[in-house]
Amino acid sequence: MGVLPFHPDSCADFLTSDELHRIQLHRLQTVVRASYEHVPLTRQRMQERGVKPEHIRSLADIAALPFMQKTDLRDTYPYGLFARPMSDIVRLHASSGTTGKPIIVGYTRDDLNVWTSVMARTFSAVGLNQHDVIQNAFGYSLFTGGLGAHYGAEALGATVIPISGGNTERQIMVMQDFGVTAICSTPSYFLHLVEAVEASGRGFGNLNLKTGVFGAEPWTDSMRAHIQSRTGIKAYDIYGLTEIIGPGVATECEQQAGMHVFEDHFLMEIVDPKTGKTLADGEEGELVLTTLSKQAIPMIRFRTHDITSIITEPCACGRTIRRIRRITHRCDDMMIIRGVNVFPSQIEAALLEVEPTLPHYQIVLSRKEGLDQMEVRIEVTEAMFRDKVSALEQLQKRMEHAIEHVVGLRVNVRLVEPRSIARSEGKAKRVVDQRKEG
Ligand code: AMP
Ligand code: ZN
Repeated sequence: MGVLPFHPDSCADFLTSDELHRIQLHRLQTVVRASYEHVPLTRQRMQERGVKPEHIRSLADIAALPFMQKTDLRDTYPYGLFARPMSDIVRLHASSGTTGKPIIVGYTRDDLNVWTSVMARTFSAVGLNQHDVIQNAFGYSLFTGGLGAHYGAEALGATVIPISGGNTERQIMVMQDFGVTAICSTPSYFLHLVEAVEASGRGFGNLNLKTGVFGAEPWTDSMRAHIQSRTGIKAYDIYGLTEIIGPGVATECEQQAGMHVFEDHFLMEIVDPKTGKTLADGEEGELVLTTLSKQAIPMIRFRTHDITSIITEPCACGRTIRRIRRITHRCDDMMIIRGVNVFPSQIEAALLEVEPTLPHYQIVLSRKEGLDQMEVRIEVTEAMFRDKVSALEQLQKRMEHAIEHVVGLRVNVRLVEPRSIARSEGKAKRVVDQRKEG
C-alpha cells in the first residue's frame, strides 16, 4: 500500500485563514459559554468584568476575558475547574504545582480523541508514517508525555514501543534489535543515550534510527546541531503542557524552522509578561493559550509563562497554521530538571520541614553525561557547624529525603560553611544554572 504524504487529520494544518478563523470563532464561543455555565471561577471573574459569553462576537473580543494561571488549578485542587461531571472523565493526568500538591487535569473521551489527533498530526509533520517503528521513551505515568505520544503514534499507524523513560541499556538494546526508526524523549535524555551508545563503543551508523521527536523541556539549536551531527538523525522540537492538553500543542515540520501551533484547537496570543497587554505578531512575550475544543477543563487565556514570538512569514512546507519560535526560557522560576518541573518554593518548603530556621540555600543545576543534576547547597549555622560530623551527615540525608519526597527527584544536598553562599543586594539568587548546551 502506498503512503499518503500526510495523516488525513493533517488537512487542518492547511486551512485557509478564513476557514480557520470561522472554526476558531465558533469553537471559542462554545468553550466560553461552557466555562461560564459550568466553571464557577470563570463565571465569577467574567461577572466581575461585566463580560458575558454573548459579548464574544469576534476573535479579537478574547482580550476582554480574564486570564487563567497555573495557580487557579492549585487553588481549586483537585477538580474545581472541571466543566464536566466525573462520569464524563475517562482519564486523569497530573503535573507539578508550585507547592507539594500536583495540579490535576482530566479528559473526556472527545478530549482524548483530539489529543490523539494532534499527536498524529505532530508525527506526520515530522515525516513519520505507518512504516515507522517508534520508541516512545517519554514517561508513561501521570506525566502526559508517554500516553500522549503513544496514542498519536498508534493513530498514525506506526509501530509503537511503549518503553517509557529510563533503563538506558535496555533502550539501546531495543533501538538496535527492534529496528527503531524514530524515538520520542526529552532532548537531555536522548543526549544521555547518545553518550551511552558511544561509551559502549557502538555507533549510530548501523542503526535504523532517523528521526528524534524531542520536547518537554527547553533546548537549543546548537544542541540540535550537536545531536544531529553525532547521530545522523533529524531532531525535531515539539511543545505542549499539561494544562492545555499535554504534548501536541505545537510541532516543527520537516523545515525545522519554528513550531506550527495547532490553531484549530489552541488559540494563541503573545502578551507582555508584566502588563498582560497583547503584543503584535512577531514581538517576543509570554505565550497565552486558549483551548478551543477541550471539554473537561476548558482553559481560557492560560498564562503559560513560556517566552516566544509568532513567526509571521508563511512556512515553506505549505502549512497555514502559524509557527512560534523555539521556547528558550520561562518568565517564572519553574525549573525543568530531567523533564520534571520543579519550583524553588517546593525545595524551600521541604528544607523548612526538616530545619525550621534554615538560613541560606542555593540550588545549583549542572549537566553530567547529558543528564541534569541538581545540588542544593545549604549553609549550616555556627552551632550546627560545631556539631559532630555524624549529626551533619544525618541532617544532610534527611534533607535529601525530604526533597526527593516532594519533587520526586533524587538530589544531592551539600552542607556548606556559614556565610559561604554569596549574598545579593536585592533578591537572593536561589538558582544557579550551569547546564551547558549539548
Ligand atoms: P509539563 O506540563 O510538565 O509537560 O510541562 C510543560 C512545560 O514544559 C512548558 O510550559 C514548557 O515550559 C516546557 N516545555 C515543553 N516542551 C518544550 C519545548 N519543546 N521547549 C521548551 N520548553 C518546553
Ligand atoms: Zn512548516
